[in-house]
Amino acid sequence: MEYKSLAIVSSIVTFGILETLVPFFQYRQNPIKRFIHNLILGLINSLVINVTVILILNLFWKPTLSQGFFYNLNLPWLHFILSFLLLDLYMYTWHRLIHNWGFAWRFHKVHHTDRWMNISTAYRFHTVEVFFSNIPKIGLIYLLGITPNAWILYESLFAVSLVFHHSNFALPFKIDKFLSYFIVTPNYHRAHHCQLIKYLNSNYTSLLTIWDLIFQSRYYPPQPETIQFGVPEETRDFNVIGLLKLPFVSVHK
Ligand SMILES: [Zn+2]
Ligand SMILES: [Zn+2]
Repeated sequence: MEYKSLAIVSSIVTFGILETLVPFFQYRQNPIKRFIHNLILGLINSLVINVTVILILNLFWKPTLSQGFFYNLNLPWLHFILSFLLLDLYMYTWHRLIHNWGFAWRFHKVHHTDRWMNISTAYRFHTVEVFFSNIPKIGLIYLLGITPNAWILYESLFAVSLVFHHSNFALPFKIDKFLSYFIVTPNYHRAHHCQLIKYLNSNYTSLLTIWDLIFQSRYYPPQPETIQFGVPEETRDFNVIGLLKLPFVSVHK
């Protein structure tokens, strides 16, 4: 997983510098405390996921790795493209599901309670959500026979995309809008973090925006500077413990 680690570190440095030098929102509150707690949660999640993946690979997978549906596909480039598209479609489907299933929303809401958005929001996910999003994905990888290289490539680009589209970087409006027809951009994802339900329930995709176009969930905000982040019923600041406890104690709508 060295490539993924490299992708994470370089994207944090790059978009961290860009959002500091060219910020979209001028936050009045000092975001350092929020930033640190989001990152600690990200570290806990990455530990849990790495242990889970290693355990699954060792217990169930070793002898038959890559002998799935794609095994007889003798076209490596086609394997890469299909693997990439299917993993991204899975992430779109998962994200849409957890927005529309009340029980799962309790956990995903942790991500949406951030009232400011910057690179640290990319790591603010409840551990239960991260764990359960990875189990079907690993099953899919196994069934399809997606190779480790194709998997790592997707995970690396996914990690970069997460940091990019959560960053507070003020990409010029026209460039952001143009790029949003291909990949998730900051303005595009700002709409998804809006307090208004109709915008919150749009832009589910995490990397390629073609899924929102196909499944009619695309919304590009004409005035992203007016967006208010967060969920209306939850205006408190949380530390890591508070974020992990939130699905069990919060009022849910
Ligand atoms: Zn969401
Ligand atoms: Zn987000």
